[in-house]
Amino acid sequence: MSEPLIECRGVTKHFGDVVAVGDVNLRLMPGEVLSILGASGCGKTTLLRIIAGFEAVDGGELYLRSSLVSDTNHHMPPERRNIGMVFQEYALFPHLTVAQNIAFGLQGMSKGEQQRRTQDALELVRLNALEARYPHELSGGQQQRVALARTLAPSPIAMLLDEPFSNLDAGMRQDVRQEVESILRGQGIAAIFVTHDREEAFAFADRVGVMSAGRMEQVDTPGELYRSPMSPEVARIVGDCDFLAGVAQGEFAATELGRLSVVCNSGSVPDGTELMLMVRPQDIEVKPSETGDCIVVAVEYRGGETILTVQMPLGETLRCWQAGFSDLLRGTRVTVETRDATPFLAYAKP
Ligand code: ATP
Repeated sequence: MSEPLIECRGVTKHFGDVVAVGDVNLRLMPGEVLSILGASGCGKTTLLRIIAGFEAVDGGELYLRSSLVSDTNHHMPPERRNIGMVFQEYALFPHLTVAQNIAFGLQGMSKGEQQRRTQDALELVRLNALEARYPHELSGGQQQRVALARTLAPSPIAMLLDEPFSNLDAGMRQDVRQEVESILRGQGIAAIFVTHDREEAFAFADRVGVMSAGRMEQVDTPGELYRSPMSPEVARIVGDCDFLAGVAQGEFAATELGRLSVVCNSGSVPDGTELMLMVRPQDIEVKPSETGDCIVVAVEYRGGETILTVQMPLGETLRCWQAGFSDLLRGTRVTVETRDATPFLAYAKP
């Protein structure tokens, strides 16, 4: 197996009493695209800034291609790390043209080399025709592509992208995202991409790291993260879910929805253990029934799907997914069943 391009071992950074990044372990392999997902303030940007060299660590070690570049005694400056960083606000120079913005990062190279690399980068992001324009003469998506070209031109060992699409409107966001992804994949460039949008994190990456309060809670493929989150917190971050109370009975749990097959994330637990079963809206089927003992208490129509919130007799609520438009109104009596026999993931109640 090849060596990691980037490796964090126990990386830690405090700002006063705040643990911005706490004991983070992470590896980025050549050609890999990894996204980091987490709520605002959980430490995503700080982790990228540590990797790029804009912040020193106060614990742990950072390696680039197996060479130590940062620990408490040692800090290689950003310009020697050859890591490209693309920021949310693009950070283009307003008084320089597109071509000059791209060439700015190539100072120190011969004029010929600068021109060649600038043209290659312009071609990559398909902006050759706009090379003489100034940033204010470009759309948001075009500005983002210039920022990307400027970062790609020096051939960095890896790219770090900090919420790069958040200033774009929804339609353009998807187009630019797909374009950036195809450039990274086409060139085999490894990247870490930070976002608080879980759909974006899942769509973009080979693996996703989930951060919460400075900690890297889990790093896994999107499918594994969604199916087998290590904690209720990760489960909530990676997708809509509710937790149904249950009591362990061998490979089952007694719940308000009846006896359900379960797999405990911590392995087998003694009978009688109080459990929380992770229930995704897609796991549940709702049918109208005059004798049903559950009631629809909220209806959220989202266009291609509807999410119904259903209250069960003892007061617990579950969200349930329906394809397209649902004609069930608030107040409708319904029955609630599980859609298939796949065991539910369960966590022992703390
Ligand atoms: P967002 O998604 O809102 O950009 P984030 O996950 O990137 O958030 P960070 O910007 O890394 O989070 O911040 C992590 C924590 O560290 C926050 O509590 C933040 O207030 C704090 N923090 C970040 N930079 C500094 C700084 N220079 N001085 C003091 N505290 C800081």
